[in-house]
Amino acid sequence: MNTVLNVEAVNRSFGERRVLKDVSFTVDGGRLTGFVGANGAGKTTTMRIILGVLAADTGTVTWRGSAVTQAELQRFGYMPEERGLYPKMTVAEQIVYLGRLHGVGAADARRRTTALLERLELAERANDPVEKLSLGNQQRAQIAAALVHDPEVLVLDEPFSGLDPIAVETVLAVLRERARSGTAVLFSSHQLGLVERLCDDLVIIADGTIRAAGSRAWLREQYTLPRFRLEVDTDAGWLRDEPGVTLLELDGRHAVFDLDPGADDQAVLHAALARGPVRAFTPVRPSLAEIFREVVQ
Ligand code: ATP
Repeated sequence: MNTVLNVEAVNRSFGERRVLKDVSFTVDGGRLTGFVGANGAGKTTTMRIILGVLAADTGTVTWRGSAVTQAELQRFGYMPEERGLYPKMTVAEQIVYLGRLHGVGAADARRRTTALLERLELAERANDPVEKLSLGNQQRAQIAAALVHDPEVLVLDEPFSGLDPIAVETVLAVLRERARSGTAVLFSSHQLGLVERLCDDLVIIADGTIRAAGSRAWLREQYTLPRFRLEVDTDAGWLRDEPGVTLLELDGRHAVFDLDPGADDQAVLHAALARGPVRAFTPVRPSLAEIFREVVQ
């Protein structure tokens, strides 16, 4: 695995309150990592520590095996929760300026700004002051600002909040492109359905503690339910009397059921086949929302 960013045993308190407790996770290059947790779970605090905006009390953040220095932070892109573009500056000036601050040459910064605004469907507003933009468009401008210097690590705090469904799709496609070209992307979100669609990897935090972390596929396997879906040609009511089966849904020929530990799924399949054709017999994978509920309890 191409681990780019490593957050290790990070603790942080505000006054008496310990808001991060031994937080550890990794973010790999070329992958999209979703950072999920309820309000106040500690996402923003963690992201600020990664970006060096806030110090950890203990613990480390390393990038490619070494502590993150100021020079390396130049290669990070950050979209903070509090946003913070200059309201009076035009969108294009602002993004070019931020590109220059990150060491991009003037001509290059202008070229990249034009391309990014096109890609984020904001080209028509390039010469408007930021304050004249709708909140959703200001958000697209923020995303462009985080991307203009082609960062190797991209940290985005709630990049989708406040975007309409079309803008969500655009931003989603842009983040996928970045990840595909090798960038390590970490973004926080409350929108579990979106995270589920978008992410390769997930980090779930609750009350300042990492509750689960890993690839989406691995997490789904870890938290697999003993649940199956059966579709047959005749009424599946016989499942009620099948040993080890707890029927959850029955809609004529379609049923969803849980199996007791140790019960044999193949025995149920054979019982179904003995009654006629079986159209579907599949394990039901948990949704991210279900995994989330289970791990944050
Ligand atoms: P949200 O989704 O609401 O943004 P979050 O997961 O990003 O939540 P944080 O903003 O990291 O959570 O906050 C974690 C906890 O730390 C919260 O209880 C918050 O009130 C507290 N906190 C954050 N910043 C400070 C601060 N500067 N001073 C005191 N407490 C703080």
